Amino acid sequence: MSGRELIVATENPHKLEEYAALLRDVPAALSGLSGHGIQLPEETGETFAENALIKARYCARATGSCALADDSGLEVDALGGEPGVRSSRWAGPGRSDADRVRLLLERMNGVPEAERTARFRCALAVVTPDGQERVWEGALEGRLASVPTGNEGFGYDPVMYLPQFGLTVAELPPERKNEISHRARAVQAALPWLRQYFTDLT
Ligand code: IMP
Repeated sequence: MSGRELIVATENPHKLEEYAALLRDVPAALSGLSGHGIQLPEETGETFAENALIKARYCARATGSCALADDSGLEVDALGGEPGVRSSRWAGPGRSDADRVRLLLERMNGVPEAERTARFRCALAVVTPDGQERVWEGALEGRLASVPTGNEGFGYDPVMYLPQFGLTVAELPPERKNEISHRARAVQAALPWLRQYFTDLT
């Protein structure tokens, strides 16, 4: 454990890559969960913020280091906010991103353009070794496409169409996604606090 260490509580290598880029000017040594021998607890919260806090608290206690966790997902208005906090488990256990996208498009079959509004949401929680807790949120609004397009990103990116770009998130270059994504917006809100916290640890 080290005072300057920031553990990103994720097993998802795509997310770790995105965080490494987003947090590049925070004076902390970033690492993911691999190598720490930690199994994340179940996401039992009802909101993105609760789930992010559950994971960050657990990881801070287990490592004695500052921990950052997010919970994110897709909210589809025509489906009453589903898949929401269940975005990664939607369609059942052992299913792939492609299976979840297929199920989503099936459920949205026949829903007209104007009612295909959706957003990615992200809550970002940081818990310090001395028990300080902070949460920030970010969102990215878009519309569900009817056909998956693009090879970048992960998850629901191929069906999240952004009218302002005329592209899906999976067609955006990763550095562009990193500027405008729900995760980027939550991180941008968190950055002043994170920079200050790690700078004060000198
Ligand atoms: P989490 O890892 O518990 O936050 O679950 C997030 C789930 O929401 C992922 O498995 C994806 O299905 C979806 N998701 C979250 N962020 C993104 C994104 O940036 N693009 C596409 N899908 C995302």
